[in-house]
Amino acid sequence: MKFWFGIDLWKRVLMGLVLGAVTGIVIRQVMGPEAAGTFVTGNIKPFGNAFISLIKMLVVPLIFTTLVSGVLAMGDPKKLGSLGGRALALYMGTTVIAICFGLLIGTLVQPGAGFDTSIVSSADLEATRATLANNPPAGSVGEQLMKTLLSIIPENPVAAFAKGDVLQIIFFAILFGVGVLMSGEAGKPVQRLFDSASEAVMRMTLIVMEAAPFGVFALMVWVLAQYGFGVLTVLGKMTASLYIACALHMLITYGFIIKGMVRLPVLAFFRGAVDAQALAFSTSSSNATLPMTMSCATKNLGIGKPVASSVLPLGATINMDGTALYQGLIALFAVQALGIPVTASMYVTIILMATLVSIGTAGVPSVSLLLATTTLGIVGATAEQTVLIIALLFPFDRILDMMRTVTNITGDLAVATAVAKWEGELDEDVFRAPDRV
Ligand code: ASP
Repeated sequence: MKFWFGIDLWKRVLMGLVLGAVTGIVIRQVMGPEAAGTFVTGNIKPFGNAFISLIKMLVVPLIFTTLVSGVLAMGDPKKLGSLGGRALALYMGTTVIAICFGLLIGTLVQPGAGFDTSIVSSADLEATRATLANNPPAGSVGEQLMKTLLSIIPENPVAAFAKGDVLQIIFFAILFGVGVLMSGEAGKPVQRLFDSASEAVMRMTLIVMEAAPFGVFALMVWVLAQYGFGVLTVLGKMTASLYIACALHMLITYGFIIKGMVRLPVLAFFRGAVDAQALAFSTSSSNATLPMTMSCATKNLGIGKPVASSVLPLGATINMDGTALYQGLIALFAVQALGIPVTASMYVTIILMATLVSIGTAGVPSVSLLLATTTLGIVGATAEQTVLIIALLFPFDRILDMMRTVTNITGDLAVATAVAKWEGELDEDVFRAPDRV
């Protein structure tokens, strides 16, 4: 027991990840793909799901209490403006760069060139048609932007809490915090209440995170036993393109933010982010990873509460670099596979649309594929071709989603680090702690 807790959490989580992957592959080899899939879905995945429920349970109380207490800790609503402005600028900038990486690698590797799209079965096509019918495409760039902006205001905050709508909760929490600040003395008891509530929820998060090595293990066993490496035989070039583009984006763009813009050691950053990355990799959900992302930010990277509590929940919802990058790749994959002529203006529209599409979606598994209806529409794919491409990618999406989600949350942490440094909210001793590198 003592020995177990003596090992750093990140090492235990990585252990769970590796052991889970190996166990999953062994189960698939021994039992065969179909029996392995049924076995792990019935017997192992429920443990993973229980863990995901446990962390999701924390998301709403964590955002609300820490954000209100974070706004109160800032003491001045004006600071919120500068912090928010900086975070938004970096979020947008990194998303555009991510899409460019997707387009660059998609152009160099040509994942869709010569691809035989006839391998999709008619049953898969039917299933995809049915899924897409329930998720209509987002509409034009303007419509999409308007929809995103309007949906931030909660008509009913209780409904926002019940739905777990992160953007609406952020909006309400910030306004509430500003209200408390403006109440002066009368607001002090509320401030104390939120300070202690946020402390308690943070502690709950730490308790739940102790289950992470086991949850990650169960999820990895399930993913590998269920999906195996089939993705590499069917979509090897696409998978390689996504993994390479995401890795380059993380190393170059986030590396530049950390080293070039705020002069901090890059290795310490990645080392501090690894718990959250492992969790994102195994859950494929930025939202579910949020409690761990916030805990990494405050505990490992020394990011102050005002920044962590505002910038990270915002990022989990609107900053999805991996998702946006993938939209660029899907667009190129489709035009290459379907033989649609590529034009320069197509690249510009893809960048615009993929940015908006990635802002307007929640961080949940496989959401990228549904967004792809919009992206494919703008490159000129017909409704039937859209169904075909999505049906082709869908069975293998999990393995791709894992890397997208890692990129999404790493981007949030990089931006939060930079904003914290600029706002004087970064504890560099914690960030640079030598035993962590
Ligand atoms: N699963 C991703 C996330 O939660 C979204 C996606 O790209 O599908 O961040």
